[in-house]
Amino acid sequence: MRPRPSSVQDMLQKHGIKPSFQRIQVLGKILEHGGHPTADEVYGWLSEIRPPIARATVYNTLNHLVDHGLLERFTVNRLETRYDLRLEHHGHFVCTRCGQVEDIPFPGEPDSPGLEGYQIERADWLLRGSCPGCLEQIEKPPTSDQMPDSDARRAADVNLTKRSTT
Ligand SMILES: [Zn+2]
Ligand SMILES: [Zn+2]
Repeated sequence: MRPRPSSVQDMLQKHGIKPSFQRIQVLGKILEHGGHPTADEVYGWLSEIRPPIARATVYNTLNHLVDHGLLERFTVNRLETRYDLRLEHHGHFVCTRCGQVEDIPFPGEPDSPGLEGYQIERADWLLRGSCPGCLEQIEKPPTSDQMPDSDARRAADVNLTKRSTT
C-alpha cells in the first residue's frame, strides 16, 4: 500500500530528519514495498520519479536513515547489503537457492555466559540454508503427467512387461 506523503514526512521529522523530496521518496518506496531491499532495488523502485534521483543520492539517503535509527542495515554477504524497516529484535534467514531473505524470530536476548561485562547494542543473527518453498521443489518427485514422453512410455512398458509375466 502506498503510504501518504504526510505520514512519511511525520516519520522523518520524528527521527530528526529534514523531510527533503528525496528522503520522502526513498522512505515512501520502502514503506510501500516492505521486505529487505538492497540499495539497487530501492533505486529501481524510484526509476519513474521525476525529477530523477541519482543512484548516489539513494545510497546516501539510505545511510542517513540508518544513522538516524529509522532503518537497520545488515550484510548478507561481502557484496550484498540490505535495509530493513523492522527494528525490533529479529533474525534473518537467507535462502541460498532463491536468494529470498525472511524475518525469523530471534532466540531471546544475546546474554549468554561469557558476555558478562559487555554491553550489546545490536545483534545480527543470520541463518543460511534452503527455504521451505525451495525444499518442496526438490523433494517433490515428478508426477507421471509431468514426465517427459519417453519416460512415461518406459514406465508404461514396464507395466506391460510385469503384466505379461504374471
Ligand atoms: Zn528458497
Ligand atoms: Zn528483517
